[in-house]
Amino acid sequence: MNELPFRIGHGYDLHRLETGRRLILGGIEIPHEKGLLGHSDADCLAHALADAILGALGLPDIGHYFPDDLAENEGMNSMKILAKAVEECLLRGYSIGNVDLTILAQKPKMAPYIESIKKSLSRTLKVQPSQVGIKATTNEELGPIGREEGIAAFAVCLLSKK
Ligand SMILES: [Zn+2]
Repeated sequence: MNELPFRIGHGYDLHRLETGRRLILGGIEIPHEKGLLGHSDADCLAHALADAILGALGLPDIGHYFPDDLAENEGMNSMKILAKAVEECLLRGYSIGNVDLTILAQKPKMAPYIESIKKSLSRTLKVQPSQVGIKATTNEELGPIGREEGIAAFAVCLLSKK
């Protein structure tokens, strides 16, 4: 099983939007009147992507590696979580082929930040920015995301045996 030439992974994450928090997505701070609530910096994009990579490897999710009841993880930069997933991937002899991400946010507009997020994630993933796809969509004002109560992210990744 460990010799599979390719492994596909999927991740999903959602955090609540609250005033008085910074909005961090993919390691980039985005100016907004609200930010994501969580034990770490609540970067749902980094969390979904880390879970996709760990899932592709058949490993437990990020809560296993970074429990949210540990004081040392409070306010943590989630790029550390993503870096841990990448480390597990490389340790097992896989490299990251490509990743594709979707951000679900009613506000703010993500378009101005997509390139910075792509660069930030590609650095931590140790890949070229062209291996990182990022799309953003609103929720057409429907449901909790449409009401700006939270921001969610979906991630898929393909790992290939080195
Ligand atoms: Zn999360």
